[in-house]
Amino acid sequence: MTAHLLAPPERRWECPSCDLQDVTHETRPHARMHSCAGLGGLTVPMVPAGVRAEHRLVEREDYVGREQVQLHEGRPVMNVTTIRDEGQDCTVYAPSVDARLSVS
Ligand SMILES: [Zn+2]
Repeated sequence: MTAHLLAPPERRWECPSCDLQDVTHETRPHARMHSCAGLGGLTVPMVPAGVRAEHRLVEREDYVGREQVQLHEGRPVMNVTTIRDEGQDCTVYAPSVDARLSVS
């Protein structure tokens, strides 16, 4: 009896908003994310190579206050929607806050 090693699968990715292409060899379901040069460094998902898609930014329209939010060109971004021919995905940028605990 001989053992045969299977080659890990190769998945090719491309970004709808910049020229970046990449290859992953992950066996589990996954999405390739990257800091996109075309979107000012926002972390957005790539799509499988050959899939027509676009990224659509959604600005946050409510009061930001002291929350730490993701900015694009100085404007707060709530999410990026990746729109494909057969569906869409949404990447949400949840705001965060600072909390300090003083113990005396
Ligand atoms: Zn990109």
